[in-house]
Amino acid sequence: MSELNVYTSIYPAAKFTFSLTLTLQEANSAMFRFLGERQYSSLYKIVREEDLERLQNAVEKCKNLSSGEEINECIQMQNQQGEYEKYIVILQKYQDIDYVYLELRNVSSDEREIKELKRRLTIFEDYLTLNGKAYFIYFPEEDRFHLFWMDYSQMVDICNQPLSEWRRRMKEKEYVADKDIAVFESFCDALTKANSEQSFVFSGKILSYGDNMDGYKVQMIPRIYQDKKLVLGVWAVVNVRTNEEAGDYLEGTFVDALTKTLNKKSITEYAFKNVKPGNQTAVIIVDLDYFKNVNDTYGHLFGDQVIKASSDVMKSVVGSSGMVGRIGGDEFLIILKDYGDEPGLRSYLRSIKANINMLFPERVGENRLSCSIGASQCGVDSNDYNELFRIADKALYIAKQKGRNRFVLYDVRKHGQFHMTDESTDMTEIRDSFYSEKDLSELNKLLAEMVLKGSGCLPEILEQLAHTMMIDRILIFWGKDRKAAAHYPAEDVWDADARQVFEDENYLSLFKDDLMICTNTNYMEYSQSRVYSILQKRKVLSYMQFLLRDGEGNLCGMVSLEACKNRNSFPKLAVQLFGNMCRIVNAVLIRELALDK
Ligand code: GH3
Ligand code: MG
Repeated sequence: MSELNVYTSIYPAAKFTFSLTLTLQEANSAMFRFLGERQYSSLYKIVREEDLERLQNAVEKCKNLSSGEEINECIQMQNQQGEYEKYIVILQKYQDIDYVYLELRNVSSDEREIKELKRRLTIFEDYLTLNGKAYFIYFPEEDRFHLFWMDYSQMVDICNQPLSEWRRRMKEKEYVADKDIAVFESFCDALTKANSEQSFVFSGKILSYGDNMDGYKVQMIPRIYQDKKLVLGVWAVVNVRTNEEAGDYLEGTFVDALTKTLNKKSITEYAFKNVKPGNQTAVIIVDLDYFKNVNDTYGHLFGDQVIKASSDVMKSVVGSSGMVGRIGGDEFLIILKDYGDEPGLRSYLRSIKANINMLFPERVGENRLSCSIGASQCGVDSNDYNELFRIADKALYIAKQKGRNRFVLYDVRKHGQFHMTDESTDMTEIRDSFYSEKDLSELNKLLAEMVLKGSGCLPEILEQLAHTMMIDRILIFWGKDRKAAAHYPAEDVWDADARQVFEDENYLSLFKDDLMICTNTNYMEYSQSRVYSILQKRKVLSYMQFLLRDGEGNLCGMVSLEACKNRNSFPKLAVQLFGNMCRIVNAVLIRELALDK
């Protein structure tokens, strides 16, 4: 331990590489040159007493890591003012050489950022002088009306558009009750004039989020701000029957009552808005580990506290870079924007994981609380939100399978792309746990049903297979005229041109044992230009095909499975699955052909 020296950072993150064999003196002087005298001190002097042993153990463990693996520890260290701040220590062993890479991330700086946000919000509330939960700003010069909900670190746009447009839409969609149209109109006029302090009460449906509320009251306070005239206001909901302000008007309609994060519907809406080609957006699913045990051991009330505190961690880490939503009991969805690069994304995830580890130490002791996280990235894995959610969910599954308390960033190279000839991969474990057991047993059940009942189950099987293997299209041709016997999705078909592959001897000869595995269509460009152009037209990235035969062994059809979005190849298990399924399908079709005769 005497060799380990780093400096406490006055920055949020500090990076330093040190040698396990470097002596204390050498390390100190190396750092001196690197950082300058005032910015370092030896680590063990400033680490909080209680954390020292854990840190030492981590450094010991780190010596046995294989490359790419990392150990995280949460410790508290003194800053230059002598106050303790929380740090995440990330240790990674350098490949083959006797170096350990160490990174410190200051978690407390995240907390400071929240305080700052809270401070800003107070100013805003001063302006508004009311306690309502939704606010609006109107910019007369641009005629822009911005209505939004704001928590201390989260903000949701309810509408942000020209007032005239919004005004028209409100009436068109009958959000305002007929009898109150006049009041509504006078509210809009008052906005544009920005000259009065006034209350308006009109009733109707609540924005676009359902119609369970009876009415709303709007208060306006025009202010001059940055030389521009602004109209600020609070949008409060009043129960017309009791005339009381409905304080929880957003709860249930788009905020989860316990955690004050978005509910499933709103976070999904937010996700659809932000997942677009060209946007840097990550889809992150967080699930607390062994949460049933937490409930069973410490009681449900404490369980609730953990859910609440974990969501606060997520909100504070995400800050203004995205939104957090609760999508299940102990499951959260985070949409994170503009995180920089992949290491940037990783440090967000690490921060969430480490901060959750640090919750309620006095209550849970050594049974530290933890979570598992799966993530996917827009533009990298897919541009489609549903797809990204599925990928993140798979990644979460891998994180759980690998032992929990970790995050897994979906990586085509590790999790999806597996070249059939690449036997050197050490990703066996991940690859084989990539398909959930539930999905697989569902598929097996369907196949068994098909053997018993015939090909009627084909559409269901194809849909399940597409879901399990995360592929986009599957087609089965069968019979003399190679008609499509079944396909997924329902509208997908091959044109006559495409079906010419059945006549192409050159192409058919490539099939080995009736199964053709093509990891990537690009490989075909020169050798099989005709098939290549067919697949290009269908935007296929990678595919597998299986030839079907009749009772006499003559070529009689084909199963084609196509991936268009994020698969460059298929894991080995996928190939086996597909092959087995095709053999069963073929047997059933032959049986039915015989019955027809
Ligand atoms: P895993 O690591 O596999 O996620 O294990 P787990 O025990 O966390 O399993 P799972 O996520 O399936 O279980 C979630 C549990 O969370 C089930 C339920 O008892 C509990 N739960 C769901 N909603 C609430 C809630 O609002 N409050 C409390 N206290 N518990 C909840
Ligand atoms: Mg759980």
